[in-house]
Amino acid sequence: MAQGILEEVLMNTALVEDLAEVAKDEALLQGVVMRTRETPNSSELVTYTPLTLFPTSVPKAVFLQALAVQTHYNTLVDRISQDSDFLKEALASTIEVDDFTARLFRIYQQILKEGRSQSIVLGLNRSDYMLDQRDDGTSSLKQIEINTIAACFGGLSSRTPDVHRHVLKVAGRLEESQHILDNNPAAGLAQGIAKAWELYGSERLDFITFIKGIYIAFVAVFFSDGLEVAVVYFRTGFMPQNYTTEQSWDVRLMMECSRAVKCPDISTHLAGTKKVQQVLARPGVLEKFFPDQPQAVELIRATFAGLYTLDMGPEGDKTVAMALAEPDRFVLKPQREGGGNNIYGSEICQVLEAVKDSTERTAYILMDKIHPAPVHNYLLRRDAPLKMSTCLSELGVFGAYVRRGEDMVMNECVGHLLRTKSSEHSDGGVAAGVAVLDNPLLI
Ligand code: ADP
Ligand code: MG
Repeated sequence: MAQGILEEVLMNTALVEDLAEVAKDEALLQGVVMRTRETPNSSELVTYTPLTLFPTSVPKAVFLQALAVQTHYNTLVDRISQDSDFLKEALASTIEVDDFTARLFRIYQQILKEGRSQSIVLGLNRSDYMLDQRDDGTSSLKQIEINTIAACFGGLSSRTPDVHRHVLKVAGRLEESQHILDNNPAAGLAQGIAKAWELYGSERLDFITFIKGIYIAFVAVFFSDGLEVAVVYFRTGFMPQNYTTEQSWDVRLMMECSRAVKCPDISTHLAGTKKVQQVLARPGVLEKFFPDQPQAVELIRATFAGLYTLDMGPEGDKTVAMALAEPDRFVLKPQREGGGNNIYGSEICQVLEAVKDSTERTAYILMDKIHPAPVHNYLLRRDAPLKMSTCLSELGVFGAYVRRGEDMVMNECVGHLLRTKSSEHSDGGVAAGVAVLDNPLLI
């Protein structure tokens, strides 16, 4: 367990206390802020966004590998979104038992029947990884999931490098402070949106982005007479709770049928499901999407952890037996997004014992559990006592692409995000109140 070069600073309690105040102050100065839990809708009061006191060491080779594979992931998501036979087959067992995915799929089917309303596609995604620790001490990049809808923290992660640089400078670690990379996903994501808007082709149009929620979109669309929307960016819509009424579903369908560029469109949303991730890991599937690019296949596949089907049949039965025998080796995942849904350890046995003989089990996939090397750090969170924690990190890489018809007019890796949480928590991101913002310190 080592933070490497910063271990000495981490152990100096008096210095750490001072630095924690410096970090919070700098976070406020840099705009690393959020509204408070007590007054979530008020702009009168903000606090700093939870973040680590120190950046976390990340091996340079693995970091560069994550950046290098991103444009291939963009291409992969985009190709999946255009392959209706693949999506139908991949999700067939899931939609039988998972109502939420089934509803999304129904919208997709309607679009397939009526034809797509827009040939411009805008994809803004974030591929998340953990670094699996090998026996020899080196680490290997393993994808946790890809988020094709509402992939967040592009804005805040553009502002956090200066906070950690400042902390390290005050700590007298000037050299390390210079190793913190610039990061500006917000600019790249905005470029994608602007490109889609430009291709849509009219300066007359209202450029509506960051519509806060489906219901607000509903209001915006229905109560703005004559308003034509060029780009709809979904900040929400990925959880069942986001669709509070039947009307919410009508609105999603209406937006999908509209001429606006949707980010994501329904097929790209479905391409980001965990079931699709599991199907992609089957032999020969990536090759189908990259028939002439063995190198792209190799780069993508190298990031896959073991993923296993729970479909009915002998292969799914084998998965059940394997998980029941050694539950600590795996994570059981339902088709949900937003954190806090995964199942670990002995609970895997409870859940599987209950569903193993019915099609209900096909609502889940099984995945190898990734074991990153734990490191020490301090997690700065409002009103939380300052204490050293044993932490695990998750690296996200942002991708942006725009396609018009057959032409990929933009395909880029636009930045990164490092999130760190205490190793006591097996699940949950920043929005869920578990992880905090961080920066990689390349070594
Ligand atoms: P969600 O869509 O809810 O974000 P994820 O697949 O990202 O679902 O899982 C949520 C969290 O659970 C991750 O941020 C990570 O901390 C943990 N997790 C997910 N898969 C694994 C895995 N295979 N090994 C270890 N931890 C995992
Ligand atoms: Mg996630």
